[in-house]
Amino acid sequence: KNIDTGPCNLYLKLESFNLGGSIKDRPARNMIIQAEKKGLLKKGDTIVEATAGNTGIALAIIAIKRGYKVIIVVPNKMTIEKVFHLKALGAKVITTRSDVMNGHPEYYIEIAKKIAKKVGGFYINQFANKANLDSHVKDLGPEIYNQLNSKVDAFVAGVGTGGTISGVGQYLKEKNKKCKIILADPKGSILKDYINTGKLNNEVGSWIVEGIGEDFCPPLLNKNNIDLAYSINDLEAVKACNSLLRKEGILAGSSSGTLLAAALKFCKAQRKKINVVTLICDTGDKYLRKIYSESWRIKEGLESKRKKNDLRDV
Ligand code: PMP
Repeated sequence: KNIDTGPCNLYLKLESFNLGGSIKDRPARNMIIQAEKKGLLKKGDTIVEATAGNTGIALAIIAIKRGYKVIIVVPNKMTIEKVFHLKALGAKVITTRSDVMNGHPEYYIEIAKKIAKKVGGFYINQFANKANLDSHVKDLGPEIYNQLNSKVDAFVAGVGTGGTISGVGQYLKEKNKKCKIILADPKGSILKDYINTGKLNNEVGSWIVEGIGEDFCPPLLNKNNIDLAYSINDLEAVKACNSLLRKEGILAGSSSGTLLAAALKFCKAQRKKINVVTLICDTGDKYLRKIYSESWRIKEGLESKRKKNDLRDV
């Protein structure tokens, strides 16, 4: 309502209202239920997963209800709030290096695989687990479509596992093949170039936004359904989050800032009024000491310190 969306209507689907506070509740639930159906999981078993945090929180909540033990492997760049939340839920948390890439023995996914093997646990494998994508075809896609009375012209999402963009994208394209699916990718991730040029560049950068952006192409990502990709830098994402809070009162996580910034670029490039949808992937409560803290933004070089020209500057 209060943000300039060019000629478009921009809708935000607040997945942050889920019990675990994120977009990962629905896929986590489906991955557990499908594993139970296949006889791969039974009460008392241990679930192991590599996650940016939110999938872990969702799994840990469902594990309480269905009687599983949980081990979660999280790279150390993720906020401490997610780690505390996981521990409070009873999960065992292992933090790993954030500065190593896919294929390195200390990469969080490699460590989760090793742990699962060692403890005889069930490795959820959200990156290649079809039940992740299917949950979005079954739940989130139809919900967005129905809530907008089938008038969805474009959908903007990021990629962690690719489950959301591929699942919702599949559903919306099936309903209306003209619906545009747009990737919002953090600057430094390899996916934007992959979508726009078809080439997998192995020059990976770093970004502070959590939960999206990749140094590899996740197996669930369906490139063919994505029409366009935008690269959004950390500053743009942080500014979008702060503007969303100040103008709409919505406290969103950092990945939602990337999505919002890309959605606004897309909206402003349109000539006629269309309905664009994007997501609030998780709640900003998890990032209060990061993107919503002025001193953190200054430390990360995202903002410069305002000089007072007196002793307070020291
Ligand atoms: N935003 C946040 C905050 C997330 O934790 C995730 C999942 N890693 C995503 C977006 C991306 O979702 P997906 O795994 O479906 O690509």
